[in-house]
Parts: sequence; structure tokens; C-alpha cells
Amino acid sequence: MDKIKMTTPLVEMDGDEMTRVIWQMIKDILITPFVELKTEYYDLGLVHRNETNDQVTIDSAEATKKYGVAVKCATITPNAQRMTEYNLKEMWKSPNGTIRAILDGTVFRKPILVKGIVPYIPTWTKPITIARHAYGDIYKNTELKAPKGSKAELVVTDANGNETRALIHDFKNSDGIVQGVHNLDNSIASFARACFNYALDAGEDLWFASKDTISKTYDHRFKDIFAEIYEAEYKEKFEAAGIEYFYTLIDDAIARVVRSEGGFIWACKNYDGDVMSDMLATAFGSLGLMTSVLVSPDGVYEYEAAHGTVTRHYYNYLKGEKTSTNPIATIFAWSGALRKRAELDNIPGLAAYADNLEKASVQTMEDGIMDKNLAMISKLENKRPVDTETFLREIAARLEKLMNA
Ligand code: NAP
Ligand code: MG
Repeated sequence: MDKIKMTTPLVEMDGDEMTRVIWQMIKDILITPFVELKTEYYDLGLVHRNETNDQVTIDSAEATKKYGVAVKCATITPNAQRMTEYNLKEMWKSPNGTIRAILDGTVFRKPILVKGIVPYIPTWTKPITIARHAYGDIYKNTELKAPKGSKAELVVTDANGNETRALIHDFKNSDGIVQGVHNLDNSIASFARACFNYALDAGEDLWFASKDTISKTYDHRFKDIFAEIYEAEYKEKFEAAGIEYFYTLIDDAIARVVRSEGGFIWACKNYDGDVMSDMLATAFGSLGLMTSVLVSPDGVYEYEAAHGTVTRHYYNYLKGEKTSTNPIATIFAWSGALRKRAELDNIPGLAAYADNLEKASVQTMEDGIMDKNLAMISKLENKRPVDTETFLREIAARLEKLMNA
């Protein structure tokens, strides 16, 4: 069988530790036997980020803007311990943060559902995709203590020096605390467009919620911006696609999410997204089955796994032990990126390969073959926990059958 050819290169961002090892295995065992892989390679491993003073991260994000699609391996975000471990020149920033800032993107996380891994909420038979607005609110706040007898005011000074003041609280009788938060119309609009585009792409309804009944200026601005952009740019496309944009209050949204069967996209303000993405990841069963894609408002995509570099497993690997690490979310990052490339370049064979790669991965797990962590929570009767390489070879065997069919 001839290998599938690509036209435009995929931006490939290599990473660190166990996921870097798995990255190479996925390419060798699952991709290059079937696809004449064409990538523009950027090594975002910490060693090379340090060598290039982190320029490689910026270059990889610029390349993603140029070509439109990237696939990223998990990377170390340095802390004090990594400074000594890697003898770093500086405590380099999180690559994901840098890339997100350059692409102005929104992160969508979607769980992979397989037989045997039962969500804690059993009515969730379809995935719930969560989108978190990753700018502002309490993550860029200013806070102060307000001692008894003080008065706190909000002051906005416009470009001409005119002040608008509002009393926050008069701390006559008690010590207290105050906090100032902000957001930007531009950032909210980018978030809204990324969500509307993703919903059209996925063919699923979009939900958005805030607390606009209480926060009549701040949260209401989010509601209005979403509504204005929907009416002006997306309403007709949504109707044509048979999907819906649905706004409600955040507490009502939680109740509806819990009662739902899944199968929609849930856009969240920054804090709601922080809290709810961890709730959903846990409720759906496993971090090893959580995919993630960064979507920019102008339609640039960066695919990755939601988990990190799985450090504990890597230290065992370095000791020469065979590890049992779940490669599925990283495989789905590759299949997602290749499918998007296929769609943009109109290569049906590549899209079919991506579909088959995902099907083979799911079949393998549903046949009971999986990593140790997944086996611990799987409800299947005949389970066979295997090491990472065996897991990948089992997927490859099924993939070959699907490709020959
Ligand atoms: P982690 O790498 O996600 O791993 C946490 C634990 O979750 C693992 O020790 C393992 O549990 C389990 N786990 C996660 N993914 C797994 C998989 N694919 N297969 C099997 N088990 C899996 O998070 P972390 O330990 O907090 O962070 C490690 C490094 O990753 C840090 O340097 C951090 O900066 C980085 N990180 C990067 C990204 C990213 O690039 N997007 C995201 C998060 C963290 P057991 O040990 O119990 O087996
Ligand atoms: Mg969180």
C-alpha cells in the first residue's frame, strides 16, 4: 500500500520526559508506516528551550500562525527544582502560556469516551467539551486589606483625566478586604469567536453562562458581547448547521450540565473554567483520556494532550524499567492535527487515516488492552494491563486491519 502524502507541513512541537519518549514511539509505530509525514519540527524540550533562550517556543508559535495547524507534546514548566535539574539560565515561562498569548487562543478540552470507563455521572453518554476564557478576572487582580475606618472606592480615570468614582465599601465597623478585577472587550470577543467557530466545526451546541443578574455591568458585558457577535456573524451559520447557542445563568448551567447526556460545548469564564475543567476531567474518568486543542479566533489550531510530561514514569524509565503510560491523549493530538490538515488541504485519505487511528485506539482499550492506571478504573471484565510499547503495537495491529479494509 502506498503511503499517504501530505502537501502542507504540520508544525511539530516536541517536548519533555515520558511524553517525549512516547512521541517518538507514536511516530515510529503508528504514523510513519502509513503516512509520508511532513512536519516542520521545533524542539520545545527544556534543554533546547534553554539553549535558544526560549526563542524556539516563539518560533514554533509563529510557524503555527503561518501554516495553521500544530501538534504539541507535553513540556516542562520550570520551577525552582527544574532550575538545578536542567541547569537553566532562567526560569523560562510556560510554553503553553507563551503560545496561547501569541495565538490569542482559547483552550478546548474534550474527553475520549470508551467502554469500561464509566463517568461518575452515568447519564453522560457523550463528551462535554469545556472552553475556558484564559484572560483576566481574578487571575489578573489587585487586592488590598482594608483596615477598620477606611473607605474603598473604584476610580476610573479616562484619557482626558476625568474621574468616575463609585463606593465599594465603607469599612466603618470592621477590618476587611477589597479586590479589583478587569477584562477586555477584545479578549472576550476573541473568546466568543473561538467558541462559535469550534461549535460549527464540531456540529455541537454552544452553552455560555455568567452571573449577569448580580454583576450587571461586568458579567453582563460578557453576555452582551457573545450575543452581539452571535447575531451579527454566526446566527445564520448555526441555523444552517442545525445547532444552537444557549445562554443561561452559571448556577442554572451547572444544574443542566449534571442532568444532561453531554454532547455540547460549554464556554466558561476564567474562574468557572478553572474549577469546572478539573471537575469534568475527574468525572469523565482519566487524565490520560483528555484531549486539548488551542483555537485562535482566526482559525489556527494547536492540538495536544491535557496531561503533563508524566515525570514519575519518566524517572522509572530512566532506571531502565518498562513503563505503562497511557499514550491515547497524545495519539488523539496527532489524529486531530492530521485530520485538520487533511480538511484544509483536501486530502480525504489522510482524514480517513486519522479516523482509523482513533478507531483502532478505542478498539484496543475496549478489547481490554490498556495502561495500568486505566486498568485500575476500567469496569471491563477481561483486562490486560500492558507496557507502553505493547499498547502501541496492539493499536498498530488494529490500525493496519482498518487501513486494509
Ligand atoms: P502529569 O504529567 O499530568 O502527571 C500527573 C500524574 O497523573 C502522573 O504521575 C500519573 O499518575 C498520571 N498521569 C498523567 N498522564 C498520564 C498518562 N498519560 N498515563 C498514565 N498516567 C498518567 O502532571 P504533573 O506531574 O503535575 O506534571 C509533570 C510535568 O508536566 C511538570 O513539569 C509540568 O510543568 C508539566 N505539565 C505540562 C503540561 C503541558 O505541557 N500541557 C500540562 C501539565 C503539566 P501516577 O504517577 O499515579 O501513575
Ligand atoms: Mg484548575
